[in-house]
Amino acid sequence: YKPLAEIDPEVQNIIDKETWRQFTGLELIASENLTSLATMEANGSILTNKYSEGLPGARYYGGNEYIDELEILCRKRALEAFNLDPAIWGVNVQPYSGSTANFAALTALLQPQDRLMGLGLPDGGHLTHGYYTAKKKMTASSIYFQSFPYAIAPSTQLIDYAGLDAQAKIFKPRLIICGASAYPRDWDYGALKKTTEREGAWLMADIAHTSGLVAAQQLNNPFEYCDVVTTTTHKTLRGPRAGLIFFRKDLKDGQDLEKRVNDAVFPACQGGPHNNTIAAIATTLLQVAQPSFRAYAKQVILNAQALATGLTAHGYKLQTDGTDNHLVLWDLRPLKLTGSKVEKVCDLLGITINKNAVSGDASAQTPGGIRLGTSALTSRDMLEDDIKVVAEFLHRSVQIALTLQKEAGTKMLKDFIHVATTEQPGKVGFKQV
Ligand code: PLP
Repeated sequence: YKPLAEIDPEVQNIIDKETWRQFTGLELIASENLTSLATMEANGSILTNKYSEGLPGARYYGGNEYIDELEILCRKRALEAFNLDPAIWGVNVQPYSGSTANFAALTALLQPQDRLMGLGLPDGGHLTHGYYTAKKKMTASSIYFQSFPYAIAPSTQLIDYAGLDAQAKIFKPRLIICGASAYPRDWDYGALKKTTEREGAWLMADIAHTSGLVAAQQLNNPFEYCDVVTTTTHKTLRGPRAGLIFFRKDLKDGQDLEKRVNDAVFPACQGGPHNNTIAAIATTLLQVAQPSFRAYAKQVILNAQALATGLTAHGYKLQTDGTDNHLVLWDLRPLKLTGSKVEKVCDLLGITINKNAVSGDASAQTPGGIRLGTSALTSRDMLEDDIKVVAEFLHRSVQIALTLQKEAGTKMLKDFIHVATTEQPGKVGFKQV
């Protein structure tokens, strides 16, 4: 055995630089988090060596007695973390990530070219929910299925459930997907269920962003109404990069979702599962089931609300004027700034955010807003008072971006250097969970 630093100093050096970036910067990307050392240990374990195509007890390779034990444990913990009855719900823990989980779920529920509806990307939906543009069908969910986006109501910026219902009467989808990448409010799963029941369609929730908050019972429960629920495991859930697919086992019409979902994951969409990742998911789910995780999830929301309050106090415009979850969508268009400019300025200041489309943007290519999330900063034990300081840093970053836009040059640079050298953004030091 030789350590990485000895075998490959080049990669070790990149890891060291990224570690420094993560330790010293302010991480505000809504889809990221800081996972625990225990989860990382499981993820970097010897389990990466093993092939185990198939399911526990029915593998295409020998030597899987411990891998079977692991996958069964991970499934059990997944159901426990979301408070699900194993007689009613099952779960597949093999998806490599959120996108593959979603495509496997579509493969399980639909035939090629069946119709689906998902929230439009400019309104906060995800690429895998049927996204296409006037010019191109660039996602598998729009290439292999006929998709039609529903929207948020321009006046409230909330999901337009009545509009969606009316569109579904005409479009006749076989599947409606709810869930989003950039929607700061909770979902009315009951309203969607009424529509899918009338149309005889499936209802699937993709809770990739909010699954940690759902598991901690801080948001409405999609499992009460949906047939299938997918999630990533690395956002608010704070685990390794992977996906999960939950499916109902109690369908009255004899439909066997268990077989359909399992067959869709393997062999339809994937090969051998990543057993090191499954171990890391299991460790994460053990942590999610602790009372401390519920306290964490509550604090994530309080922090997002404190961030929203801090920004609106400066007169900035937020989509829906606030948040119910871990993220805030900041509409920069009244300032005549683009999201990419602010993202760049924040990068230079050690604040990591991402540009994001806001409702009504002419093009998703030049988004008029930014998305901010509090999952990672809350993992560093930040509370509302800390977040107020973060809101001030963001305010100053935007003022710098405005100056840059106006004066484009020397003064701007001076301002950068001043802020970067006289202020320490955020707490110095890093707390591992
Ligand atoms: N679903 C939603 C709602 C997401 O926001 C994302 C990623 O951001 C995904 C799915 C895809 O997850 P992954 O990047 O792990 O493929």
